[in-house]
Amino acid sequence: MRHIEEKINVPVRGKCSVLVAGGGIAGVSAALAAARAGKDVLLIENEFSLGGLATVGIVTIYLPLCDGEGHQVSFGIAEELLKLSIKYGAEDLYPTPWLEGGTFEEKKAKRYRVRYNANQFILEMERLLLDEGVKILYGTKICSVNMDGDKISDVIVENKSGRSAYEVETVIDCTGDADVAKQSGAETENFGQGNVLAGWYYFISGGVKNLKMVGASDISDEEKKQGMKSAAPLIAQRFSGLDGEELSLQMQLSHEHTLLDFKKKYEEDNSTEISMLATIPQIRMTRRIVGDTTIDTSDDKRYFEDSIGMTGNWRKVGPIYEIPFGAIKSKNIKNLLAAGRCISVTDAMWDITRVIPTCAVTGEAAGVAASMYNDFSKVDIKALQAKLRENGIKLHTTEVL
Ligand SMILES: Cc1cc2nc3c(=O)[nH]c(=O)nc-3n(C[C@H](O)[C@H](O)[C@H](O)COP(=O)(O)OP(=O)(O)OC[C@H]3O[C@@H](n4cnc5c(N)ncnc54)[C@H](O)[C@@H]3O)c2cc1C
Repeated sequence: MRHIEEKINVPVRGKCSVLVAGGGIAGVSAALAAARAGKDVLLIENEFSLGGLATVGIVTIYLPLCDGEGHQVSFGIAEELLKLSIKYGAEDLYPTPWLEGGTFEEKKAKRYRVRYNANQFILEMERLLLDEGVKILYGTKICSVNMDGDKISDVIVENKSGRSAYEVETVIDCTGDADVAKQSGAETENFGQGNVLAGWYYFISGGVKNLKMVGASDISDEEKKQGMKSAAPLIAQRFSGLDGEELSLQMQLSHEHTLLDFKKKYEEDNSTEISMLATIPQIRMTRRIVGDTTIDTSDDKRYFEDSIGMTGNWRKVGPIYEIPFGAIKSKNIKNLLAAGRCISVTDAMWDITRVIPTCAVTGEAAGVAASMYNDFSKVDIKALQAKLRENGIKLHTTEVL
């Protein structure tokens, strides 16, 4: 490939204490937590809406905050956002026992999850962040960083104004793809097996709105070796989610399969219409940081001294995972944390932690940590945990079982 040298003078447009890279559920949670703790927060988002996959990606099922055995395991902003997502009513799966004082047995029988309206959630999340003083910069892609030794000193962005930079004290990488981690030279790892094609969309038929989940979920190669089965993918091709041209093709193929699916419905009932399409690629796992600790499925109910919150397993009843601070902290970049899809987990665990509740749990912990420290190699875990507890977070399985 031919290379050309690009020389460009980049103005520093502003500075902030905490720069949140990406405004999906992890980014919203991180920004909210840091702003509430009194920091000036700049959230940079490539799209013109908040929520990422959970809104413009049409993934509207807020997976469980519980373990499926009647115990709530995810708290704080994870629960606050679930409630916000259904402020004007749930689309489906309303968790009555959890929200209306059900008994333990009733909670055991129904998981604490819900389906929500993405558009309303977008507007409410934006209102919430603005009310808490978060500065949001939409339509802006983070494309590079400027380093000062093993710290990020500036984040370089591109938008309608061209390229510019923001001076930072700390960065929370909530891009889902560990973009900032990669740009800063942090240790990262890619999801080698690639993602199956998906084309979730909404349609209205007979006046009723429906969510159609085109494209199977997937399991890791590790789990396939252990004998676990998954549904057949739509097409054989898989997607890394890390190549511009490949992502563009993924979107076109996703549209093609959505259209095929819709046409079948339309032939049966010509009142059917598509009411919402994803405007970002529906890709689950791409690139993650390599933290001090990498969590695995075998860590079910394992005690982590540095736990910053917990998550259940949306695929299975029973497991509870404590998430260590070591899984959101970059090994080698001192002022960088990650939250959401790109925390440090094994391939098998990735499918469990990439979901909305865990993104909120890790986002909140990262936001609180960034409100207290600007060098994450020197974190007093007990002090961080005390702050998280003040926010209503439970940290260890022994506190909920
Ligand atoms: C097909 C599919 C089905 C799923 N089903 C469910 C489900 O039923 N329930 C569930 O809970 N989860 C589900 N998930 C997973 C879940 O939706 C996501 O993993 C989760 O919402 C990710 O949140 P996040 O904040 O980590 O990342 P994202 O939602 O990916 O947010 C990242 C944000 O960062 C922005 N961004 C990225 N790079 C840059 C950059 N360089 N500069 C600026 N901005 C940037 C993006 O525009 C985006 O808004 C599903 C995912 C897929 C793909």
